[in-house]
Amino acid sequence: MTLRPLVCWCCGLMVAMLASCASPEPPLPIARRGVLDLRAVDFSRQPTVPLDGTWRWTWQALLDPAAPPGGPVEFTDFPRTWKQSRWRGAPIPSQGCATYELTVLLPPRPPDLGLRVPDVYTSLRVFVNGREVARSGTPGCRAAETDAHWAWHVGEVKNPADTLRILVQIANFAHAKGGPNRSFVLGDRTYLYRQQSTGRVLDFFLMGCLFMGGMSFLGLYLFGRHDQAILYFGLFCLCYSYRIVGVEERFLNAQLPWLSWPVTTRLEYVTLFLSVALFVRYSHALYPRDTHRFFRVITETVCYGCAALTLVTRPIFFTRLIDPFLGFMFVCILYGLYLYGVAARRNRPGAWFSLASTGLLMALFWYLNSAYFQTAGLNRIVTFGGYLGFFLLQTLVLQYRFAHRLQQARLEAEQGLRAKADFLSTMSHEIRTPLNAIIGMSHLLLADRPRPEQKEQLDVMLFSANNLLNIVNDILDFTKIEAGKISIEAIPMDLGLIARNVVMGYRSVADEKGLNLHLRLDDALPAPVLGDPTRTAQVLINLLHNAIKFTQEGSVEVSLTVGARSAQDVRVRLAVKDTGIGIPESKQKQIFDRFTQADASTSRSFGGTGLGLAICKRILEIQDVKLQVHSEVGRGSTFFFVQAFPLAPVPAEVPPAAGPRPPGTRARAGQAAGGSQHSARRRRPHERPGGAGAAPALGGRC
Ligand code: ADP
Repeated sequence: MTLRPLVCWCCGLMVAMLASCASPEPPLPIARRGVLDLRAVDFSRQPTVPLDGTWRWTWQALLDPAAPPGGPVEFTDFPRTWKQSRWRGAPIPSQGCATYELTVLLPPRPPDLGLRVPDVYTSLRVFVNGREVARSGTPGCRAAETDAHWAWHVGEVKNPADTLRILVQIANFAHAKGGPNRSFVLGDRTYLYRQQSTGRVLDFFLMGCLFMGGMSFLGLYLFGRHDQAILYFGLFCLCYSYRIVGVEERFLNAQLPWLSWPVTTRLEYVTLFLSVALFVRYSHALYPRDTHRFFRVITETVCYGCAALTLVTRPIFFTRLIDPFLGFMFVCILYGLYLYGVAARRNRPGAWFSLASTGLLMALFWYLNSAYFQTAGLNRIVTFGGYLGFFLLQTLVLQYRFAHRLQQARLEAEQGLRAKADFLSTMSHEIRTPLNAIIGMSHLLLADRPRPEQKEQLDVMLFSANNLLNIVNDILDFTKIEAGKISIEAIPMDLGLIARNVVMGYRSVADEKGLNLHLRLDDALPAPVLGDPTRTAQVLINLLHNAIKFTQEGSVEVSLTVGARSAQDVRVRLAVKDTGIGIPESKQKQIFDRFTQADASTSRSFGGTGLGLAICKRILEIQDVKLQVHSEVGRGSTFFFVQAFPLAPVPAEVPPAAGPRPPGTRARAGQAAGGSQHSARRRRPHERPGGAGAAPALGGRC
């Protein structure tokens, strides 16, 4: 199976992700009892150092950064949330305030330093040597004085002496968790800025991809395929695109500082709950026969319930939902793996992609949570690759499915077309046999000296039968051409003779209409050329038939003009020109489509089915020749084509023009002027018995 390499590639990425969680970091100095000794660190080789370890801290006090260190001495691990911390041996609540202090001993001549400050629960101010370098919201020791905000900063550490005194004030009265939970990082300022802008570019790029992907999936759903899987995946992409820039490093918060903390936090939670619900829905829509309804209902109830709680309760309450929900999400992803595994085993379309992408999602989830719970650092490139891989694979699932359905629809349509063509040709054959009998019998009766009123009725019958036979023949011809069942012969033929015979066959009709019918043959016309005389005559007859039909006065001219000539072939322009009603420019393309006439009133006044030109066009197309028209309303039309005919090696023996043939015979070379038994000769539908239409030239094939 060709998808296997892709699945293997994804597995490789997953392993890399999991391995990067587990891979041991090079040993770095750790803060001990409020002091971090970086004197041995070479910032040119180790550009960043996390300030992790034990910090000095004071609970329920925001110390003055300018005041000298003093007061009670207590130490705590940093970063660590308040839920897990103890103050003087006793647990503390998640709401309150605290000050953390760290003394950093620097190596001689450090580079320009910066301090990367992530978000904390939920407001902070950071001072280095008494100078503020970062701030998110307003920390205070009472709820009314505190203002929550989440953003990441890279603060400038200016003119560092050999020692830095870092003081961090943190307060929380809004969130279920309090305190710091991510590492602060000291490092080469340029390197930190570069890391920050790389992260921003990757996040906004990913967000843009997701957003545009989501919009295009929605468009696809709305404007064509009402496939629920496409709808849910589109919504999922839109929902998740917010999380890419609004969560983790929260670049959106930095871009839109006026967005209040309760709003961004609600958005963060709601998009998470909805993303899971939409993904479950999407999986169900993809593989409805493999999912358990019970699981879907439970998941949706939990997700929509949490989303509703987030919207109607205060952050201090709904933020409690996150840890249990992450556990629930883990179960959902495991279930997804199982589901896609089942779908892949049952060979559902695109299930291998789904399986690979859920595996990748699982690894990504693992990786992100390791960072969230502080068991591993976060590598932006790895998360970017993980997300990109996941969405790419899911997009492939949909595209695979889409292509699969299109292919099925095409097969069904082709089957339908074949059935229609078979039906049409069978029916036409069936109709033609009794029709030929009717026509034959009418001729016999007409020859049997009928009474005048009987003759008139027989003429009407013959006219209608001929008309019907023409239509049936056109349909048969057309379905045959459409089904690719006609082959073009290359036998010696005389183009001049074919044209002469065609014109001769229509002379009496033209005379009856009072039209001048001319034939203009180029003297340079070579006698034997290779071609299909039946089809060439059929095209000329159709064009001439139309020209006479749509011309009330003036002339009709058939001309054959020789163009370029080489040792092998000769190019001939075959044209039929009339001074008839003409065709409006806007209709000049449409008339070559099947069952299309220039004017709806045409069939009323002139009759016809709109198949003649379509047949001519297809016959010529098979020979790589284009049928063209120049026309002006009220002045006439010229239908023409230029065809290259190979020169025949020996002069062809061309028998004289064929006369009327018995029904059922088919014109071949030499009988070309008679054209195909099916449709080469067409009777004017508006002809009435006894009138011009009764002329033998038009009814010749009967
Ligand atoms: P039909 O003649 O049976 O209607 P055709 O496919 O032969 O079908 O022609 C399609 C339409 O093209 C005609 O209905 C007519 O409107 C237009 N047309 C074809 N030939 C001419 C012509 N020589 N002059 C004016 N209109 C024409």
